[in-house]
Amino acid sequence: MIFRLGVRALSLNFGFKMRKEYLAAKDQLTSLIRQARVSAGSAGREIAGLIVDNGFYLDFIRCKNASRRSGSFSFVEKEVQSVVVAVERLGREVVGTFHSHPSSTAEPGDSDIEHAPDDSLMLIIDCTAGKTALWRVKGGRARPVKLKQLVLRSRS
Ligand SMILES: [Zn+2]
Repeated sequence: MIFRLGVRALSLNFGFKMRKEYLAAKDQLTSLIRQARVSAGSAGREIAGLIVDNGFYLDFIRCKNASRRSGSFSFVEKEVQSVVVAVERLGREVVGTFHSHPSSTAEPGDSDIEHAPDDSLMLIIDCTAGKTALWRVKGGRARPVKLKQLVLRSRS
């Protein structure tokens, strides 16, 4: 899975404090899997986006996939920059990226690791199994990170 992030985006400061485990809203993960499957069904296209730590759990902001080829993705540098600026204005932090694998497991490929900002999180969506996996990419290696699903209930 090819992942290209602009040079300037790569120089983003990802110097956040890594946690032992992360939380994510179950509804949001389910929705991402659904979106990824729809996209995979359309010529095997991947979806991609940014991961934001809101101080409590991880939020996922879908971005445009500029790659027209199946099984690959690339970010639009301007879009990434504007999301980062908006997120920081809210006092939150972009801590990584996510993308989908239309027909392979939720493990990062060599290219995924090579193009990821160093010391960032990477969520991969396995469209076939309908699962997600979270990784920490650092020093050219990816290690699994625990992601707990959180059920958020709206107030009635
Ligand atoms: Zn990939």
